[in-house]
Order: sequence, then C-alpha cells, then structure tokens
Amino acid sequence: MFSEEEFRQVTAQVPGMVFRLHLSYTGVLKYLYVSDGVRELYGVEPDAVVADSAALRIFRHPDDEPTIGSDLQEAARSTLPMLLQFRIQLADGTVKWVQVSSTCVEQDGLGAVRSGIMIDITGRKQTEIELQETEARWKLALESTGDGVWDWHIQEGAEFYSDRYKEMYGYPADKVWQHADDYVDLVHPDDKAQLLLDQHAHFSGAAPTYSNEHRVRCKDGSWKWILSRGMVITRDPKGEPLRMIGTHTDISARKAAEAQIWRQANFDPLTGLPNRRMLRQRLEHDIQASQTAQQSLAILFIDLDHFKEVNDTLGHDGGDLLLVQAAQRIQACLGPADTVARMGGDEFTVIVCDAKPDAGPAPENRLEQRLQAILDSLSQAFELGEEHVFVSASMGVTLYPADATRVEDLFKHADQALYLAKGSGRNRFSFFTPALQQAAQTRARLASDLRSGLAQSQFEVVYQPIVQLASGKIFKAEALLRWNHPLRGVVNPAQFIGIAESSGLIIDIGDWVFRQAADQVRRWRGQLQSEFQISVNKSPVQFHHEGQSPHSWIEHLRSLGLPGSSVAVEITENLLLDASPKVIRHLLDMRDAGVQVALDDFGTGYSSLSYLQKFDIDYIKIDQSFIRNLTPAATDLALCKAIIVMAHALGMTVIAEGIETPEQLDLLKAAGCDYGQGYLLGRPMSPKAFEAFHLETSAATPSPA
Ligand code: C2E
Ligand code: MG
Ligand code: MG
Repeated sequence: MFSEEEFRQVTAQVPGMVFRLHLSYTGVLKYLYVSDGVRELYGVEPDAVVADSAALRIFRHPDDEPTIGSDLQEAARSTLPMLLQFRIQLADGTVKWVQVSSTCVEQDGLGAVRSGIMIDITGRKQTEIELQETEARWKLALESTGDGVWDWHIQEGAEFYSDRYKEMYGYPADKVWQHADDYVDLVHPDDKAQLLLDQHAHFSGAAPTYSNEHRVRCKDGSWKWILSRGMVITRDPKGEPLRMIGTHTDISARKAAEAQIWRQANFDPLTGLPNRRMLRQRLEHDIQASQTAQQSLAILFIDLDHFKEVNDTLGHDGGDLLLVQAAQRIQACLGPADTVARMGGDEFTVIVCDAKPDAGPAPENRLEQRLQAILDSLSQAFELGEEHVFVSASMGVTLYPADATRVEDLFKHADQALYLAKGSGRNRFSFFTPALQQAAQTRARLASDLRSGLAQSQFEVVYQPIVQLASGKIFKAEALLRWNHPLRGVVNPAQFIGIAESSGLIIDIGDWVFRQAADQVRRWRGQLQSEFQISVNKSPVQFHHEGQSPHSWIEHLRSLGLPGSSVAVEITENLLLDASPKVIRHLLDMRDAGVQVALDDFGTGYSSLSYLQKFDIDYIKIDQSFIRNLTPAATDLALCKAIIVMAHALGMTVIAEGIETPEQLDLLKAAGCDYGQGYLLGRPMSPKAFEAFHLETSAATPSPA
C-alpha cells in the first residue's frame, strides 16, 4: 500500500485530478481526497477543496448545472462506473470541458463513496464541435440540392438519413431504421444485384465513386426511381471502408420520360404491338435461343388483302379500327413465346417459336394448321361501328434455320413467299422455296435494268391490228410494249409489267408508251385512215399513283391537234373493283375529253356487265382464254354469245382477243362480235410493218362504200 505522501507523488504524475469523494443521495458532495491536479484544472489548492467541497461547485457552468445535479444523484445510487462530461467556468472567465470517470468504492446508508479522475478535454471537444459543424455544413450543402442524404457507418451497420431523404419515400422525419440492411429490403428485387456490384466496385477501389440507379419502395408501396451516389470517407488501416456518405436523387420523372421514348421507339402506337425495330431485336434473340434449343422458327409476313378499299370507303378511322382488331386476332392465334409486330400500313410480321413444318403428331403443333387458323380468323367479318367488313390476308412463310439463318435473308424470303401468296390469288399462305428465290433475284435484276432501259431507249412499241369483223377493215390497233434487253433479248410485258408496277416505274414507262402511241395515231390518221384509233394499256398503278390525272395526256393530245377519240385506254376489272373516288374522277375526266375506255381481259375477273355500265365503258375485250376453245358445241361459245348480246343491249362494243383460227373467226362473226384481234388477223408489229400490212389488207378488202 501507498502512504498518503507516496500516493500524492504518484497522482501528481497523472494528467488531471484524481479524487475520492462521498456522494449523498440528495446530491451533496464531499471531497475526501483530491490530487494536485486540481491546481491545474481549477487554480484551487487541494486542501481548500477537502476543507470545503463547495470550493469547486461554484465553477460549474450555469448551463450545465442542472444536468450535473441530476447526474450526481444518479451516481450516488449506482454501483456502476460512470462517465460525465460538463463545462466549468473559472474566475477569469475561461471555459473548460472536463470529463469525469468514476467507480463506486463503497456504499453506506447515506450514499456512496466513489473515486475517479477528472481530465481536461477542452481540446478534444473543440475538434469534435468543429467536425460537427463541418459535417452539418456539407450535409446542408448536399440537402440543398433537393437530394436526400445518407450516412452509412459500415462496420456498425448503422445508417442515418436526412429529413429530406425520409420525406422522399413518404416517411416522417422521426422514422429510425434499425440496421443498414433494412434499406436493401426496400430496393426493387430486379435492381439489387447491380447495386451490390456497383457498391463492391467502389469498396474495392475499382470505381472512384459509387453510383447506381435503382427503384426504392416508398411507404405507400409505390416504387420510386432514384440515383444513388456516394463515396467512402473513412477506411480502417487495412483499407476496409468504415464510413460512406452519399445522396439519393429522385429520377422518376427522367425514367418515365426515358420509358416513354423507349416505347415510342419500339412499339406501334396504334396497335400497341412491337414495331419493326423491336421485332428485329426479338428475332435476333429468338434465333439465338432456338440455336441453343435446336428448334425451328417460322417467320410470317402477313398482308391484309383489300385493306386499301376499307380505308378509302370507311376513312382512316375505320381503317385504324380494323388494324387494331386484326392485330388482336393474330395475337390470339399465337403462343406466349411468339411475337407479332406491325411493320407499318397493313403489314404484320409474326415469329412462331418452335415451329417445325411437320412437328409432332398433335394437330395443334402442325405449323400449317396454325397458319390456316390465322388466315381463318382474319377472314371473319370485322365489325367497325355499324359496318361489317370482310378482308382476307395473304401470308409468306420462311423457316429458320432451314431456309436461312440471317435476319436479312429471312425477311427477304418471307417477302418473296408473300409475293407468291398474293400472286396466287390471296387469302392463302405460301412457303418460301429456292425457286422463289431465283425468281425474286431475276425480278430484282430486271427491276434495276428497267430503270436504265427507259433511259437507254431499250423500249419499243409494237401495234397489233384490231379488225372490224363485218368489213375486215382495220382502223384500230393496240399499242403493246416490247423491251429489247441487251442481254436477254426481247422481254415480254408479262415478265416486267408487274415489276414496273411495284417499283412505280410504270408511271414513266406508261407515259412514254402513250406519247409514242399519240405520235403514231397522228401520223396514221393522215396516212392510213382519218378516224384511226390506238388503244393503250393503263395499269391500275397509273390511276392510284399520287398526282396522276389524265390531264397531261389530254393536254398532250390537244397539243398534237388530236381529238380524245383518237386513243382508247384499256383497263382491267381489278381497277373497277378497287375504284376509289379518285379513280372514278379519273375515268370521268377521260370520258369528258372523248377518250374511250376498253375493259381488257373480260371474263377473267368479276365479270358483271351491269356493273360495268356504271363506269361508262365503251368496249369489252373478251379474254383470249374464251376464244381459244371455241367450237360450235363449246360452252365457251354460248358464253361469248351471251356476252355479246348483253354488251350490245347495254350499248357496249365487243372485241374478241386471241383469234388464231379461221373457225374461231367464223363463229365470232356469226355471233355478232364487232371486232377481232389475234395472230390470225395480224400479229403485233413495228409501225413500218403495220403500214405495209394495212396497205395490203385495205387493197384486199373491198370498201363497203
Ligand atoms: P393484253 O392487253 O390483253 O394484250 C394482248 C396480249 O395478247 C398481247 O400480249 C398480245 O401479243 C397477245 N395476243 C394477241 N393475239 C394473240 C393470239 O392470237 N394468241 C396469243 N396467244 N396471244 C395473242 P403481250 O404483248 O405479251 O402483252 C401482254 C400483256 O401485257 C397485255 O395484255 C397487257 O396487259 C400488258 N401490256 C402490254 N403493253 C403494255 C403497256 O404498254 N402498258 C401496260 N400497263 N401494260 C401493257
Ligand atoms: Mg390490252
Ligand atoms: Mg387482254
């Protein structure tokens, strides 16, 4: 044991004041011993303190006095070690922060004896206060941006949030979270993995700051998109993060705008279906998936037949309604993994997953049956307001990987197959075949050759005589186009008119043919016959095409000093079936200018004579397929006779096409047919040859006069 003198010497070495005191339950305090340190702390002698405990009491800071009082009463009852911090104010006005740590030595009936040490912590307090002030300052700076601030004490697992932070998620300012992990529970499950990755990247030092966008569940259960940014501000000596501070920025509005833009870029606003762009992505994805799964895909191009008429008759609103319903019907025929997209207009594309053409014994797996189901559902009546409308669909089908493996090729193949389906009469599906590919390649080559063909004068017009059967006289001819291809030789119109139509080139080519014919008829009216008439074939595309009207043709005739009746225009029944107000106007304008109209290939289409009367048709050209089989007993003869009688009754003139034999000629003559055209009467020929031919025949046939 120390003597008191020794103890005093030892305690003099300790910074601060060592003490032993008695504390009564009422808070009265009596010092039993104080070390010399009291001199340094209070500027008071130890003896004075032991003599009068109030000697120190007077230095308590007035602001801390009340708490010191209650703390002392507590200390009198407690046997536990205690730590107190408070301020003292010396006679000269100096304020010091002190810290008192004490333990209970013994208890008696009045209170307790405690011993301990009081040290000056003014310096430490100062830095603490300064630190708090700086923290408060930057927290204020962070908060003033409108962001919520978080402060994460990583190893303790404690996280503190600013009021604004809590407000962002709908929590009151006094809400306390127990543990930092509570926060992770509020993060959207889809976003958690990336959040942890980003966090790790920053903890490991790979990323200088932490930044992550994720959704947080608000108090009301809704989700909010936020941008979380932060930085580790202290690490332990091993580099492990201790504390991290950051912010949450509400980016919900930006995310909503981004989502909107994404929707607009990838979906068709009318039907809500994926658009071309999205389809491409899906197809690329499906190709990859079916590669792994060793499955087939079918790619379907679907085009509604006669949609244009719906648009023309019911207006765009009606057309839109139909498209929406058509989209729903196609969708209803598909499985959950399949995709239907709208490519624009009345074109849809479908990806059928797991589609082998001969897949499985179960009938619902058979691709053909599924395709037919789509066609069937589209051919049911569409109810558009009051109207019941019927359309059908044509479908081109190609298979991955059997036909091709690249997206581009698959699209091309499906398109070629669709072309075939349309060409074979619509309301059907056609599969892609290599022969189709070849035909398509030829078509593509011809299409590009056509363009240069017109510029390089590879076209030529030949004229086939149209003979008045009663007199054998020729004062009509049909202008027929020929293409002298530099490599392929003479290409027939059947091989290229369709291509010229789909590329739009038919407009320029048709105008060119018309001008040739007009020049020709002017010459022949002077040279061969004053009433001479040349008929020109006019494709439906030339009627429908934007900006097309007959005025330029009529104007051209006028400039040559020709009457409208010097030409006739040959049209097909398809044009009349699709007749929009614009087409009807076009036909009426021609009639008003005196240009006559002939209905070509009669009998192969809709073939209603009374319907034709509505359109002021002047000539009917009976299609060569009826003439080919004309024998006295044939039903075709009965048909021809009926057509001729009815046409005459309706004031129309009849021309028979494709007369090749004298027997056909005689039968038609006997049936009262007005005009004939065919190899027997004269092949299509060049203008020179035509002139010679005309001279010859007019010499041979006696003039009726
Ligand atoms: P189309 O208007 O019906 O023309 C009659 C076609 O029958 C012509 O074929 C003609 O050469 C052929 N023909 C005439 N008499 C006979 C015969 O006795 N037997 C047989 N087997 N055929 C005969 P071409 O010149 O090959 O024209 C085919 C089609 O191409 C035309 O049919 C017409 O629709 C179209 N076309 C021809 N030139 C033009 C044109 O300038 N513009 C447009 N848009 N189409 C044209
Ligand atoms: Mg014709
Ligand atoms: Mg014809």
